Amino acid sequence: MDLSSYSIPDKAVVTHLDWTASVDFDAKIIQAKATYSVVAQESCQELCLDTSKLRIQNITNLEGEPLDYTMSPPVPGKLYLGQKLTVSLPPHKNKDCSITIVYQTTNECSAAQWLPPSQTAGKKYPYLFTQCQAIHARSLLPCQDRCGVKMTYNATVTVPSWATCVMSALLESSKNDGKDTKVYTWKQPVPISSYLFALAVGELEKIDLSKRCAIWSEPGTIKAAAYEFSETEEFLALAEKIAGKEYVWQRYDLLCLPPSFPYGGMENPCLTFVTPTLLAGDKSLADVVAHEIAHSWTGNLVTNATWDHFWLNEGWTTWFQRKIMVAIKKNPKFLDFDAIDGRKHLGDAIEEMESKNTKLVLDIGDGDPDDSYSAVAYEKGFTFLLYLERLMGTAQFEKFFQAYIGRFASQTLTSEDFKAFFCEFFEHKEEALKSIDWDLWFYGEGMPPVLPELDQSMAAASQSLADQWLAVDREAKAPPAKNEMEYWSSLQITCFLDDLALKIGDQPLKLPTLNAMDALYKFSESRNSEILYRYCELAIPAEDESVIPVAIRFITTQGRMKFVRPLYRALFKTKMGKKLAVDTFLKNKDFYHPIGVKMVAADLSSDYKKSSTTTLSASLDKWLIPGALVAATFAVVAFRTRR
Ligand SMILES: [Zn+2]
Repeated sequence: MDLSSYSIPDKAVVTHLDWTASVDFDAKIIQAKATYSVVAQESCQELCLDTSKLRIQNITNLEGEPLDYTMSPPVPGKLYLGQKLTVSLPPHKNKDCSITIVYQTTNECSAAQWLPPSQTAGKKYPYLFTQCQAIHARSLLPCQDRCGVKMTYNATVTVPSWATCVMSALLESSKNDGKDTKVYTWKQPVPISSYLFALAVGELEKIDLSKRCAIWSEPGTIKAAAYEFSETEEFLALAEKIAGKEYVWQRYDLLCLPPSFPYGGMENPCLTFVTPTLLAGDKSLADVVAHEIAHSWTGNLVTNATWDHFWLNEGWTTWFQRKIMVAIKKNPKFLDFDAIDGRKHLGDAIEEMESKNTKLVLDIGDGDPDDSYSAVAYEKGFTFLLYLERLMGTAQFEKFFQAYIGRFASQTLTSEDFKAFFCEFFEHKEEALKSIDWDLWFYGEGMPPVLPELDQSMAAASQSLADQWLAVDREAKAPPAKNEMEYWSSLQITCFLDDLALKIGDQPLKLPTLNAMDALYKFSESRNSEILYRYCELAIPAEDESVIPVAIRFITTQGRMKFVRPLYRALFKTKMGKKLAVDTFLKNKDFYHPIGVKMVAADLSSDYKKSSTTTLSASLDKWLIPGALVAATFAVVAFRTRR
């Protein structure tokens, strides 16, 4: 049962889509024609599709004759589910039939983000990108918007002649068509769930990274992006080895989005979307790419049957990503090191979440899947898989992973299917199998019931250096004389900064400590967004005025909510930054993504209401959206930004 969709695929299922669309940047709409290949039971007279805020113009059979249809009204309190579109099917003797829907998207399309030129790196042309996960595809096209239905698609997209169109598919052709437009044709021959349908249109350039990999980006960032992601082919080849199954999607391209892109990455097939905040200049944040590549098998090929089983997508992908990084770094301890960081985030997330959402297997029902989106699927899922790996032995478990991919490729599965296959694969290990408390793992709340021991040796140096700096600050000890971080990985450095933040608690560092630290390590000049962000988080509460220009530049040149939101809040909480935070936000709000604008405004407004000492602009209020919506949206963005 998947109550997040009105479709009834058991009776009539869409197997292929032909999508012809025209992108209108002035009106911010897409005018489209969608032709569906439907396989229906002979007795079935109608096809049910999900839609949200679409303007249906006409529905016809193959011969162009109109078909009857009804649009059910939206259900109050369940607006995120959109509206059910029921179409009378033409006669289908051989079970196959096809229908065509002509429609427009509207300004309320939750999947599409229309960026004005001010939100792009080039600042010259507008930009469009879509984000369909979890159930936003229905606002872009009528579809059976559930993971359990997979279809192939072909697309023909008309865009302005200055623009380039990219999709989660293989490019077939592109040509100028008339004076002002270009037409692109795309083909996705591997069946995909609707949430993987994706489109971006903007001023784009491409640099090939290998025969099957390329990077797409705005002209101003293309070179930096090509450098940063130059190891993509190597990652992909290693992933194929670990998965024991070749990469089936043919192309693996990356699209580096404009700086206001509020997320970290999205694994759209053939074309991963990534944030430009990964452009550290030293390839140090490439683990996000390892994560998105891993999704090519876990998620995109082997897919969770419903969002209740999201851990099968993200837990496996986190496990697989860490295996890829171990192979890249040629260091098995790297898995434990990265998992330490993950476990910390899991603990933080669980503390703040509703307990029902801390279960590995969720019970979303007809709720909004976005509301339960969190670190749990990633890190609790990973912890479960690591527990199973340690129980069965790494070599055996890695073989199981390959068998799992082989068994469920191009299909969807539930947690129970996973359990059954696991028990079948390891049936010779009866004792070990008996020791697994499946129900506790699947349905228990809070932290995982077992926390496999993680090797601390890679973290030890970071932790000991954090102790040293704590002593510098609290006991007036002399700071370290030389830079022992010179050969550290960025993960070791972020581990140091996290550990120090944990150790100082609510009592900020003293200015001389921060100054000595920055003089030695040059954190404030770091091009690595993860390091710069953590340094700002240490320096802002300390009222360190020297960090202000650094922090302001950071939060006004990229819009990734993971960084922007906490830094605005941190600034607002200080004497030096209270007014500045509001002024900076109001001055730069056109740069951010609309979701981001609303969230930062809500943050500042709520902090503003809490603090009576200030006389700040009430104009923030008009950017405010209801608290519940903010919380829900943030739950999504906050986690998506991590990967
Ligand atoms: Zn993921």
